Amino acid sequence: MGISPNEKMVPSISSRWEWKAAPFFSMVPPWDTSVKRENIRPLATAVPKGLDPITKEENKMQRKCLECGVEVRGRVDKKFCSDHCRNAYNNKVNKDSKNLIRNINNRLRKNYRILDSFKLKDGKTKTTRTRLIDKGFDFEFITNLYTTKKGSTYYFLYDLGYLPLENDYYMIVKRE
Ligand SMILES: [Zn+2]
Repeated sequence: MGISPNEKMVPSISSRWEWKAAPFFSMVPPWDTSVKRENIRPLATAVPKGLDPITKEENKMQRKCLECGVEVRGRVDKKFCSDHCRNAYNNKVNKDSKNLIRNINNRLRKNYRILDSFKLKDGKTKTTRTRLIDKGFDFEFITNLYTTKKGSTYYFLYDLGYLPLENDYYMIVKRE
């Protein structure tokens, strides 16, 4: 893109600095929400005279596109060679985090079903660690802790919890 239409409207602020049209300004309509506002370059950038907005030093720095590995030229904080690569990369990151959440939710659901498979009497029952593990219970996944005034800590999955007792026994409880 050559000279931006706004260039003439930008005043000169001093003899040592001059305004230049930002060379990589991309025209993004305000209704296009696919582009982050902070990624849009200003129409003009104040730079020391004789220097381009992108210095020679920056140009020398070898940075690789996070998606395809191609050398990226331009601003120091530029991470991608193209919008295509930026989108592809961000989509992958989002997908990974969704997989993580789905996997954790599955583990929590499985743990909950296991606790729910015990028949409770007066809202509680006793079992062993071995029995829980045999059913596939994973002690790493809980939703919350509850510590009583006496200092006992219950581990909860939603409204079902367990309290470690002596000798690898566990009390399973239901919160009313
Ligand atoms: Zn790329």
